[in-house]
Amino acid sequence: MSARILVVDDIEANVKLLEAKLSAEYYEVLTAYDGPTALAIAAAESPDIILLDIMMPGMDGFAVCQRLKDDPLTRHIPVVLVTALDGRSDRIQGLEAGADEFLTKPIDDVMLFARVRSLTRLKQVMDELRAREASGRRIGVIAGVAARLGGSGGRVLIVDDNERQAQRLSAELGVEHRPVIETDAEKAHLTARGPVDLIIVNAAARGFDGLRFAAAIRSDEATRHLPILAIVDPDDRTRLIKALELGVNDLLIKPIDPEEMAARARTQIRRKRYTDFLRDNLDHSLELAVTDQLTGLHNRRYMEGQLEALVKRAVHGGDPVAALMIDIDHFKKINDNFGHDVGDQVLREFAVRLASNVRAIDLPCRYGGEEFTVIMPGAALEDAQRVAERIRLHVAGSPFRVVEGRELLTVTISIGVAATLGEGDTPEALLKRADEAVYEAKAAGRNCVIAHAA
Ligand code: GH3
Ligand code: MG
Ligand code: MG
Repeated sequence: MSARILVVDDIEANVKLLEAKLSAEYYEVLTAYDGPTALAIAAAESPDIILLDIMMPGMDGFAVCQRLKDDPLTRHIPVVLVTALDGRSDRIQGLEAGADEFLTKPIDDVMLFARVRSLTRLKQVMDELRAREASGRRIGVIAGVAARLGGSGGRVLIVDDNERQAQRLSAELGVEHRPVIETDAEKAHLTARGPVDLIIVNAAARGFDGLRFAAAIRSDEATRHLPILAIVDPDDRTRLIKALELGVNDLLIKPIDPEEMAARARTQIRRKRYTDFLRDNLDHSLELAVTDQLTGLHNRRYMEGQLEALVKRAVHGGDPVAALMIDIDHFKKINDNFGHDVGDQVLREFAVRLASNVRAIDLPCRYGGEEFTVIMPGAALEDAQRVAERIRLHVAGSPFRVVEGRELLTVTISIGVAATLGEGDTPEALLKRADEAVYEAKAAGRNCVIAHAA
């Protein structure tokens, strides 16, 4: 379950640096120093993400990327091209070769982890879809159809109250897509529920909060799967990081380059059509079986399946596993005071905050009712405790906006933390210890984190 990343660069020091950074965050790292080796490893090991340097002797990064995207075996693996700072033409050529993302050298840690995290999520979804499709024995047909899905002729929703900028983007996108402009976030949300292939939102709009809009799109069942490109200022790092954390698919950095925008729009639309196609061809009951319909998180059944394997590995000398058990404080009062629908809104918003505060390899799930779990592969008790504290602060720190933004509710949670103890431990015992710790947290006055002492 832990994400595996293939790092490709002809310069050993670059590979070692990335390897060290990624390993420190519990990613599993594979390495290659040239194109042909990278292709061989990609085919044999099927990594979750490939970080690919452009300038390599022999086969360069573009050629490697093109080959990866031409091969049905490796097409679905996200490729992040590592380009020079002024590499505008590199970026465009890279997108043409099918690259999914870029990182500029020298690599910024925040951007690195934000991109890796969002791509790991996407990859998990794609893998799940592909796995089910493969079991349907239609994978050959699917791969063929997917290859023919284009990225043009899309309905693009531009959400921006800067009219001049919106008109310019619309004119530029109009060459190959069908753009529509909305200057109001609430209207835009309604439009997004219709047939839309891509949303481009100005994250620095004056009249509305572009990031809140993106979060609302992500938490609405009807719009959750839409790709979002956010327009951000290069100097506004806080917003840029926040946008990625919220699950925006990609960023358009100002000043917006028309060709780069065109290429990124095409990539997002092609990817959406691919996932839509897979989703439409799935047995829907399978999706229902592993996903919680209210929050979109995995459900208890799925979590228990994953946990079983992880605990087994941990007790046989593998990496430890930690579990958080989270219970919303006085949730019944929210239902009683505001109604069941508002209660549901709180659960959805909580799920978004939860999912954006865990690592890519962690598994946030709805355990049932107003109880949630996070399974954390590779985490020791102290690591998990730190993450739990971060989640707690993120929930208690700013009120929940419900009833279309008209009510602000302060919500708090109690968290119990437990980690595997080695030989003889079981998934049931681990969850029980986490649950006992929640009980203690409630007794201690709620809104706190308690770790189960071994
Ligand atoms: P505590 O701080 O002790 O956890 O108090 P609490 O009120 O959160 O706990 P309790 O277990 O008494 O109440 C949980 C409530 O959650 C009861 C149930 O009606 C409500 N609930 C469970 N599932 C859902 C749901 O899907 N939607 C809504 N709106 N409410 C739910
Ligand atoms: Mg409860
Ligand atoms: Mg509760």
